Amino acid sequence: TIVNIPVISPFKRRWVQLAGHNGSFKAAAGGTILKRYSENEKNCFEMVMNDVLASCVPTYHGVTERDKESYIQLDDLLNSFDEPCVMDCKMGVRCNKNPLNPTGNIEPITSNAQEGVMKMKSEGNEFENKTYPKCFYLQKGDGTCNTNFKTTKSRDQVHKAFLEFIDGNKVILHKYLNRLQEIRTIVESSDFFKHHEVIGSSLLFVHDKKGKCNVWLIDFGKTTLLPDGQTLNHRIPWQEGNREDGYLYGFDNLIDILSSLAS
Ligand code: ATP
Ligand code: MG
Ligand code: MG
Repeated sequence: TIVNIPVISPFKRRWVQLAGHNGSFKAAAGGTILKRYSENEKNCFEMVMNDVLASCVPTYHGVTERDKESYIQLDDLLNSFDEPCVMDCKMGVRCNKNPLNPTGNIEPITSNAQEGVMKMKSEGNEFENKTYPKCFYLQKGDGTCNTNFKTTKSRDQVHKAFLEFIDGNKVILHKYLNRLQEIRTIVESSDFFKHHEVIGSSLLFVHDKKGKCNVWLIDFGKTTLLPDGQTLNHRIPWQEGNREDGYLYGFDNLIDILSSLAS
């Protein structure tokens, strides 16, 4: 479900979408966006709104209908930014469901996800030239965009991609680091997190030229409530049947990589 071509809403030219299918998002009133409905994601957002995690996600405004399609309504995280630079960083050591396994077990991608940060994509939001080669592109507030980060997984690659994303700006780097540390503490104390297997969720990094900067958790489309009060650690390695997702393992690595850039 990775789209290489960025999508800009015709209603609001400055909005960008870095992942997901074309057409799964719509602009909406009052600084919100609509994401194609999934019952799973709706349930997650309902729970997250009553969890400590609420401060780390776009505010959820319920389900709404457009042209006979259902959507979940979320705050547009780019709304208060001026020409934002955006990066979508998928977390954890596992990705998609194994289609060969009807029980819904999930395949680990251990061979190339040692850092627990699966992929990063980033882009700026002003596009001069709307024709993009399929797999390669630009980035940042200079009007360029790069969506070819599906294979950005190793420590060195994440290191390099992040440095490029912030354009070497240490002030932004420290703001991101502070926010990441804050979010990690919240995630560690979250009941929602304890009881969910979090697959394919991202950290969305956003900053702009005025130095405004934030990070949020997005995309609970594949996040699943564990049965019978079962809990996960999110750091211990995946093994057949334990459902560990490596979310905090990836988070630790990400903070570690950014800290090494800061020193
Ligand atoms: P996939 O499963 O392929 O990652 P998806 O259809 O589940 O995609 P999301 O990952 O939730 O969709 O979002 C896709 C992209 O849309 C994000 O990478 C981000 O660029 C943008 N986006 C999503 N939610 C928001 C939001 N609340 N505010 C601003 N931008 C958003
Ligand atoms: Mg996503
Ligand atoms: Mg998704």
